[in-house]
Amino acid sequence: MLAMALGAALAGLIGGWWWSLLGGAAGALLLLALDDLRGHRLMAWLRGPLSGQAPRDTGFWGEMAYRIERLLRARDQAIDQEQHRLAQFLSAIEASPNGVMMLDANDQIDWCNSVAADHFGLDPVRDRRQRVTNLVRDPAFVAYLQDGVFDAAVNFISPNPATGRHLLSVLVRPYGEGLKLVLSQDITERERSEAMRRDFVANVSHEIRTPLTVLAGFVETMASLPLSPTERARVLVLMGEQTGRMQLLVGDLLTLAQLEGSPRPAPDQWQAVTELLSRAHADAVALSAGRHTLTFDGGDDAQIGGSAEELLSALGNLVTNAVRYTPDAGHIEVHWRWRKDGGAEIEVLDSGVGIAREHLARLTERFYRVDNSRSRDTGGTGLGLSIAKHVMQRHGGEIDIQSEPGKGSRFTLIFPATRVRRCLEAQAVTA
Ligand code: ADP
Repeated sequence: MLAMALGAALAGLIGGWWWSLLGGAAGALLLLALDDLRGHRLMAWLRGPLSGQAPRDTGFWGEMAYRIERLLRARDQAIDQEQHRLAQFLSAIEASPNGVMMLDANDQIDWCNSVAADHFGLDPVRDRRQRVTNLVRDPAFVAYLQDGVFDAAVNFISPNPATGRHLLSVLVRPYGEGLKLVLSQDITERERSEAMRRDFVANVSHEIRTPLTVLAGFVETMASLPLSPTERARVLVLMGEQTGRMQLLVGDLLTLAQLEGSPRPAPDQWQAVTELLSRAHADAVALSAGRHTLTFDGGDDAQIGGSAEELLSALGNLVTNAVRYTPDAGHIEVHWRWRKDGGAEIEVLDSGVGIAREHLARLTERFYRVDNSRSRDTGGTGLGLSIAKHVMQRHGGEIDIQSEPGKGSRFTLIFPATRVRRCLEAQAVTA
C-alpha cells in the first residue's frame, strides 16, 4: 500500500495520469516482490534444520514466522523434558538391584538393565531385538514363557558362565498388548541360608533326640524294673549325664542365638587380658584335674576392647578343647602376644591328638566334628569353635587353626589394632 501510494505521489509530481498509473503498477510490483521475498525466506528457514532464529520480518510473514518459531520451541522443550524424564526413569531401573527386561509381543528383547544382562548373560546393545528364548535356553525358562502362566516365579541356574553358579528367580509380568516385563533376582545367598537353616534345625533335633531317647529308656527301666539301690544310683548318674549334655547344648545354642541377634560389642569397653586368662586358666584347671601341664603367660599390660562374656566364651572354648583333645600328661600352653601390625593374639597350643588337614577348613562349621564319639564322650556340643569364630568376627578379628595329627594343635585368636591397647596407654588417656 505504502509502495503504491509512493508510486502515485511520485507520478503526481512528475505529472500526468499515465505516469500515475505506471507508478502505481510499479509500486504494486515492488510490494509483491517484497512479499515473495519474505515468503521465500520463511520457507528456506522452515526447510533448514530450524536451529537459528526465524526471519524477523514485519507484517503477515513476520507474524507467521514468529508463531511457527514459538510453536517449534515449545515442542522442542516438551521433547527435551520427556527425554529427561525417560533418562531418569531408565537410570532408576538401572539402579535396581534386580534384573529388569522388557520383551515385545514376539518375546524379542526391547530393553534390559545391566543386572538383567548379567543374570542372563546378555549384551544390552548387541542382543536388542533378539528373541529371548534364542539366548536364554534353560528349559524351565523357555517352558515358563511358552506356557504363559505367570502366577509364580521360575527358578533356574544363571546361564551366564562369567558369574559362576548363581540361582535366579525369574518372574514375568505381562502388560500392554502382549508385552512382558521380566524381573530377575539372584537368590543364591537366600537359598544357601535357607539350606543352612534346614540343616541346623535337623542337626539340633538330632543332637537333642539322642540324649532324650537314652533318658526315655532309663525312665522306662526305672518304671518297669525293680532296681536295687546300687543299680538305681547308677541309672540316676547316667540320666544326669544325659540331662547335662542337653543343658550344654541348649546353653551353646542360646549363646549362638545371642551372638547373632545382638549388636557388635562396643570397642571402648576395655577388658583386662589378665582377668580373661585367669578365668580361662581356672576352667582348664578344673577340667584337667591335674592330668595336664598348664602354662598361661603374657597379657599383663594388655586390654581388649569388647565384651568380656563373649571373649571368655571364645577363649574358654579353645582352652577346654585343648584339655579335652589332649591325652593325660600332655601340655597345654596359652600365650598372649603383641603383633607387628599393632594387633595382638592369644595362642592356645596343645600336644594333643591333632587334626588332619582336610578337616581344618570346616572345623568352625556348626556341629562339624572330626571324631564324633570323642567329642560327645568329653561333653562336646560341636558348637564351640563356631561360637569362637563368631565372637572373633564380632570383634573385628579372626581365628587361625594349625594342626598335625598326633602332634597337637595351635588355635590363635587374632585381634586387630583397633581392639587392643596397653594398660599404659589407658593410664595416659585417663590421666
Ligand atoms: P566339640 O564340642 O565337638 O569339641 P568344637 O566346635 O569345639 O566342637 O570343635 C569341633 C571339632 O574340632 C571337635 O569335634 C574336634 O574334632 C576338633 N577339635 C577342636 N579342638 C581341637 C583340639 N584342640 N585338638 C583336636 N581336635 C580339636
